[in-house]
Amino acid sequence: RAIAAIEASQPTHNSFTHVAAESALQAAAAVDARRAAGETLGPLAGVPVAVKDVLCATGMPATCSSNMLRNFVPPYDATVVEKLRAADAVIVGKTNMDEFAMGASTETSFFGVTRNPWDTQRTPGGSSGGAAAAVAAGTVPLSLGTDTGGSIRQPASFCGITGMKPTYGRVSRYGLIAFASSLDQVGPMAWSAADCALLMQTIAGFEPRDSTSLDRPVPDYMQALDSTDLSGVRIGVLRDALDVDGLDPEVRQVVLDSIDVFVGLGATIVDVELPHKEYGVPTYYVIAPSEASSNLSRFDGAHYGHRADPVKVDPELGPLVSMYCQSRSQGFGAEVKRRIMIGTYALSEGYADEYYNKALKVRRLIKGDYDNAFAQADLLLGPVAPTPAFELGDKIDDPVQMYLCDLFTVGANLAGIPAISLPGGFNAGGLPIGIQLQAPVLDEARLLSAAHAFQ
Ligand code: GLN
Repeated sequence: RAIAAIEASQPTHNSFTHVAAESALQAAAAVDARRAAGETLGPLAGVPVAVKDVLCATGMPATCSSNMLRNFVPPYDATVVEKLRAADAVIVGKTNMDEFAMGASTETSFFGVTRNPWDTQRTPGGSSGGAAAAVAAGTVPLSLGTDTGGSIRQPASFCGITGMKPTYGRVSRYGLIAFASSLDQVGPMAWSAADCALLMQTIAGFEPRDSTSLDRPVPDYMQALDSTDLSGVRIGVLRDALDVDGLDPEVRQVVLDSIDVFVGLGATIVDVELPHKEYGVPTYYVIAPSEASSNLSRFDGAHYGHRADPVKVDPELGPLVSMYCQSRSQGFGAEVKRRIMIGTYALSEGYADEYYNKALKVRRLIKGDYDNAFAQADLLLGPVAPTPAFELGDKIDDPVQMYLCDLFTVGANLAGIPAISLPGGFNAGGLPIGIQLQAPVLDEARLLSAAHAFQ
């Protein structure tokens, strides 16, 4: 049924870069046969799951929505995909995204834009726009996204679903094609926090093939959903975030209304501040492109990726460098090139102290802000994105406007903490608006529990 739903929605929404109809039907039949034979099945037995196209799954292309990798079929599963299969989930395909996860609208994909199921003239957000739209359109109940600066939470907000960025290191990144290695995390996207908890239980945990993986026990996230009583939980409201220029008044109102709901559930409200929050976006847009410029150097037509053919040899560069240059200029789109240039500049000799090293210092200040805030509150409440879903084409020619979409989300990545986006309400036009909760390192259980209580 999921395959039929995906195929029906694909011409309108374009949520998928690859539909794995044959292997999904085989996997589903195998689960059915084992069920009929009375075997004990995994917790996601037969559940269709969609996977963002930045994660590797054997036998399916992993393109990062880039011309550079349009023909890449990885010979192995990412750890999270391996864990999904071990839980007897059925991988139905790969979802569309901004090229190499760089963007906030899924408009930079080589395979065309994804459309928001709530209003097809609008973006589903990004970069995990396909993963969010696939759930919002009802084609799959669960999907996996990745979040480097907001790419799970912002599309979840735009598409009226729930999405969580776990603590840095909580979920293995083995088999995730790296964008910015100190920020990237894989996380669950679903209708509800309860469904996110189920998916999180499957994918979380230590894994030696990812050197940044945390060797800490995984709590029982489903058990965290048992109580909807939030008495004793201190929720810190980021009041100054609600006063920033450019915050849509209806988004602001949805956050304010949510405070009343949390009070009704027994939570104590305190006001907290993150004094360096205005430096989040500039810090992120130095660190993320710097790491990207290094991570993407492997895509040169020889080691990985599209190779220019024929190569026009520039006598000054010689045949090898000419091949690199032409492969990269044909393989990458404009936003990816922009990031590589920014990152290479920020890391270059003579500028690194002024940009990259300075950004690392500000990152520590931002982390310090969160440490102070979590001394006063167990969870922080604020907006996810400054606006509801905007129209396709609105920001694509103005990178700075696009980057400002990340105002409220990059902090969690810079600090390495978990954060969840959950539906908070609607604007007058009927578009969904998310609210965001952030928690201290490894406190996903509390995030899921508070989000579940709210829902
Ligand atoms: N919008 C941010 C960016 O373009 C976040 C992307 C992400 O989280 N992958 O970098």
